[in-house]
Amino acid sequence: MQAHQLLIQHGDNPAAMTRRLLERSGVRQEIKPGMKVGLKPNLVMAKPASEGATTHVSIVRALVETLQEWGITDITIMESAWVGDSTRKAFKVCGYEALAQETNVKLLDLKTAPTVTLQAGSLKLKVCKAPLEVDYLINLPVMKGHCQTRMTCALKNMKGCIPDTEKSRYHTIGLHEPIAAVNTLLKQNLILVDALNGDLTYEGGGSPVPLNRLILGKDPVLVDAWAARFMGYQMEEIEHVALAAAKGVGSGDLTQAEILQEGKATGKIDQKAIRGDAAAFKRYIDERSACSACYATVIHALRQLEHQGKLTQLKETLAVGQGFQGILGPGLGIGTCAAGLEQHVDGCPPDPEAIVAFLEAYLRDSH
Ligand code: SF4
Repeated sequence: MQAHQLLIQHGDNPAAMTRRLLERSGVRQEIKPGMKVGLKPNLVMAKPASEGATTHVSIVRALVETLQEWGITDITIMESAWVGDSTRKAFKVCGYEALAQETNVKLLDLKTAPTVTLQAGSLKLKVCKAPLEVDYLINLPVMKGHCQTRMTCALKNMKGCIPDTEKSRYHTIGLHEPIAAVNTLLKQNLILVDALNGDLTYEGGGSPVPLNRLILGKDPVLVDAWAARFMGYQMEEIEHVALAAAKGVGSGDLTQAEILQEGKATGKIDQKAIRGDAAAFKRYIDERSACSACYATVIHALRQLEHQGKLTQLKETLAVGQGFQGILGPGLGIGTCAAGLEQHVDGCPPDPEAIVAFLEAYLRDSH
């Protein structure tokens, strides 16, 4: 398989689709017995894949079984959930603990794994050693929406290969730039995208969209450029993808790509709805270097208020992010960082239900 190729498989049997993609790609030629292979799914939180946030274990099981049939014995599934959630819990809830026991592969929680600090252009970035030390790294992202970066797929999934302190720091140094930069350090050999039913508006899931397809590629920029276009964005609108292309991580030029589809496409998306959802909540938030988990809990709370028909009553913006640390004064603060504001919800990140209760009480008292 060449870097300019994308293989797309449509269907309703993830295991059979995975096996078929591996067969079509010819990657067996480059994955040899004796190699250390790392698999990096998206287990951002402890939620079953049916909710649209995490990688389906059936894909990873078919991949593991195929690799083992090819004579690969050293396989590690590595991941780190987002700040505030437990990777161990995510391994269990998402079915990876059972998979590891049944197939004898290793599970590695990158939250507790050794790290190394490396220079990426002008940035010094701390990354986990394990994904750097494998001979072959297979990235297994979910194609889904993201409330801060609009979309997340191959490049952003690598953010699970850094320690929690670094995840928070990324949000203080521009988010897009360090995501692109870390991809110059962490080389993916193969990308198998779970586009079965990702939530196309929110990385935490809850509104899965049945798309019934898997995508296989070797260039994370090309994969993400395709995913961006599929979701109705220009590549340039997803800043970290354009930056990664500029840094030479890969090419997002879809005019030069060979896109080979197999099977009958069934799922459809409403691109206008995706854009509308992201924009609808932004005006209620004053975000300053907020961690993804914190920002996402705010979106979740605002969505619940909208369902209750109360969102338009909210006249003040919600302050969220590390940029509010040490700021004292009036306002509505979300998370420990904004605890200096007169009214706030504590937590790092705060509990989404606590934000909803806080906002309900605030709206009640102010009317
Ligand atoms: S409270 Fe601050 S540090 Fe904690 S998750 Fe929110 S933004 Fe990040």
